Amino acid sequence: MRARTHLLLPRMAVAVRPPLRRPIRGAGVMTMRPMRPCGIPGCPELVRPPAVYCLAHTWTDEQRREYRRIVDRDYDRHRRDQRARAFYKSAAWERLRRAVLARDNYLCQRCLEHQRITPATTVDHIVPLSVAWERRLDMSNLRSLCGPCHNAVRSEQEGGGRQGPGRDP
Ligand SMILES: [Zn+2]
Ligand SMILES: [Zn+2]
Repeated sequence: MRARTHLLLPRMAVAVRPPLRRPIRGAGVMTMRPMRPCGIPGCPELVRPPAVYCLAHTWTDEQRREYRRIVDRDYDRHRRDQRARAFYKSAAWERLRRAVLARDNYLCQRCLEHQRITPATTVDHIVPLSVAWERRLDMSNLRSLCGPCHNAVRSEQEGGGRQGPGRDP
């Protein structure tokens, strides 16, 4: 995730003036402070203090805000994925999952709509966890699906509200 963010951002810096080329006031070449690594983790460039970032990573305030936004968004997504993974391992989910399969007679509800009788292998959140976390244990938001239907529903949803990995085991 960080790697992708890192690749995304330097392009935004094209028009930005590099502060590290500005002479430090009152300092000659001999008294300049030692170089230190760019403030972006993983960036190999060295910069001269008081500059914090290398040329590629020097942004306007607006660009810094954009950077924060991207990092925060990735972090939120990561946290949501972790939360979903933990949920699918919980005893409450395992119990509910069995109850939904029994309610649906162990048949895929999507196939059934098309008069096809197919054994269900997974239980699906109709409104995905990422959209309605509070409905994770709501039986009316759950249905039994076969593998192919589950995959079809998932790829439909990935166009809009994205669902992370570790959906239904
Ligand atoms: Zn850098
Ligand atoms: Zn099906």
